Amino acid sequence: MSAVQTLSPSTSVVLQLPGGWFRNNAGWVSGRDGVLLVDTFATEERSRELLDAVAGATPDGGSLRAVLTHAHGDHAHGARQVVERGGEVLAAPSAGAVVAAGPHLYPGVFECSNWGDVTPPESTTPVVEPLRLDLGGIEAHVLPVPGTAHTDGDLVVWVPDDGVLFTGDLLFNGVCPLAFSGSVTGWAEALDWLAGFGAATLVPGHGQVSAAEEDLIGRVAEYLRWLLDVAAGPEELPSLAAQARDRYPGWLDAERHVVNLAVARSEVRGTPFDLVAAMGAALAEVGGPIRLDV
Ligand SMILES: [Zn+2]
Repeated sequence: MSAVQTLSPSTSVVLQLPGGWFRNNAGWVSGRDGVLLVDTFATEERSRELLDAVAGATPDGGSLRAVLTHAHGDHAHGARQVVERGGEVLAAPSAGAVVAAGPHLYPGVFECSNWGDVTPPESTTPVVEPLRLDLGGIEAHVLPVPGTAHTDGDLVVWVPDDGVLFTGDLLFNGVCPLAFSGSVTGWAEALDWLAGFGAATLVPGHGQVSAAEEDLIGRVAEYLRWLLDVAAGPEELPSLAAQARDRYPGWLDAERHVVNLAVARSEVRGTPFDLVAAMGAALAEVGGPIRLDV
């Protein structure tokens, strides 16, 4: 497993760098009475390693809860293991429904030989309003993201005493964001809400942890607004995707630009989003199914 990074006495993260397809971040908040895990990993094995590390940070007899920041498999595939270890899994209602209908492995899009058993849990606990969880000497707040952003069921976890905000996939750092399950417009608005926390430390869903002064929120917001701006014009999407590669040259998984542009165009024109066509355009850029290194 990737190394555990301690952000504060109560908050730790596990980063799967550099953070491309299905290589997400997870973390936990630990207090005297229990642990709150934020997200799991894509494969059975990596999630098991993560939960072993969490067990080492859990006080004797302490409770285990996990928050799924959203339903995507990289974040959610270990949820059943949380339940098997006696834990409770929290998710937005719509995310819980998507997870329950999984696992979603998209075999025509991704090639992966080591998912393992990623069967979803029997149920998740729906989060319909802000929760303040007292873990014993430290509070963690589980907060529904207003509207539709990265997905229609996003949660963030805020640790006010430490100034740490787990943003899930509302933020990507050094990795191209991915909007196919959500709304570019709503996501940009949600980032204004996210900035309001005044967090000192941001844990993105993918890529390195970021300090507030690095303005990761502003950089992702600028990208989303650029998508909406250019999608409102007449230019064809492949041409715009090529411009995006030049404009954001350091980002991994640049084949996502054409997908995001298709989402943005459907929003500004009020037309349906064609996921199959958009993913087909992305796969054409990379020459076939995406081989996962997870
Ligand atoms: Zn995601």
